[in-house]
Amino acid sequence: MHSQDYIQLDAAYSACTYNPLDVVIERGEGVWVYDVDGKKYLDCLAAYSAVNQGHCHPAIIDAMYAQMQRVTLTSRAFRNAQMGPFLKELCELTGYDKAIPLNSGAEAVEAAIKSARKWGYLVKGVADNQAEIIVCNGNFAGRTTTIISFSSEPQYKADFGPLTPGFKLIPYGDAAALEAAITPNTVAFLVEPIQGEGGVVVPPDGYLRAAAGVCARHNVLFVADEIQTGFGRTGKLFGCDHEGVRPDMITVGKALSGGFYPVSAVLADNKILGLFKPGDHGSTFGGNPLGAATARAAIKVIQDEGLIARSAELGAYFKGRLARIESPHIKEVRGKGLFIGVELNIPARRFAEALLEAGILCKETHKTVLRFAPPLVIKKDEIDWAMSHIEPILMMR
Ligand SMILES: *Cc1c(COP(=O)(O)O)cnc(C)c1O
Repeated sequence: MHSQDYIQLDAAYSACTYNPLDVVIERGEGVWVYDVDGKKYLDCLAAYSAVNQGHCHPAIIDAMYAQMQRVTLTSRAFRNAQMGPFLKELCELTGYDKAIPLNSGAEAVEAAIKSARKWGYLVKGVADNQAEIIVCNGNFAGRTTTIISFSSEPQYKADFGPLTPGFKLIPYGDAAALEAAITPNTVAFLVEPIQGEGGVVVPPDGYLRAAAGVCARHNVLFVADEIQTGFGRTGKLFGCDHEGVRPDMITVGKALSGGFYPVSAVLADNKILGLFKPGDHGSTFGGNPLGAATARAAIKVIQDEGLIARSAELGAYFKGRLARIESPHIKEVRGKGLFIGVELNIPARRFAEALLEAGILCKETHKTVLRFAPPLVIKKDEIDWAMSHIEPILMMR
């Protein structure tokens, strides 16, 4: 079968919820992927930062394979020998007391919303069913019914109502707007340190620190969605580390498992997650031994290979090279670490398609932004190779 055959199968059998580039990937190794016709591509999306460790990392394969041969799923009706060590390592790395292990990012955000509301009713003393959570325009936190309820993107919500109440939208990057939006019923402010799906939007310097200060003054939980920005993507362990901010609660996912398996978590201290009782939350696959063993190996790769420092160093280099392109189409080059957005003044899709032709995978986001976010194991000469194609393509008429 060739690419066209697989594309026809997708068209015939997959509900049309995506508009992918027409490349059919069959194999991946490090920063490179190969399509069914044998053509090689440099992956500059890294599965929306789920593959920070590079495709098919051998250490993660070994850990996953070893666990697969022992036991894969016990359910939380019983205990397993991987979940405890996994959560201990994750809590020690992040500096939180406790975690709820889940699968997809959206599930972690849902659990964060439930945790914040529970804290609001049991600790802050908000009256029943009155809790409010403040979020920002341009947010992305997943696709469940509750999460789309607070999206500012009309398409995400259209025809999916009735929506979940209890959310308030404010502009991103404006701490004064946050302070003005807080009421006695506000339990949390949920924010991405850099908006990923929103177009790699970097807030003004000092914003996260100011917002965390506002939250602390008003007894509101500062909740950071680090699902895309976490585990070295921005050149620090977490996006909030750029401003020395320690959120009350964070959500993690994506690179937590190096792209092998859906593993996510919400992390916070006992004052929040200590409020949960048996039966309050759950997931059949959450905390399963296969995912836990895989995530333990994935976290270890980030640390052992110095991928956070690598992201900071090579990200600065890559961004610097992109910023020097003198193209009439480029409005702005922004980002932190290997999380880079190039905002154009015309639709980005045709550039993504031209890059695909040249052997570079990247996807437009928000119509006019090209995101460059390769696996963090990328080397300088690979960035140089990519630039030799990106530069002329961004110059094309
Ligand atoms: C991808 C993403 C999510 C949702 O994760 P899924 O695994 O797709 O459910 C949530 N928040 C942010 C910031 C993300 O980038």
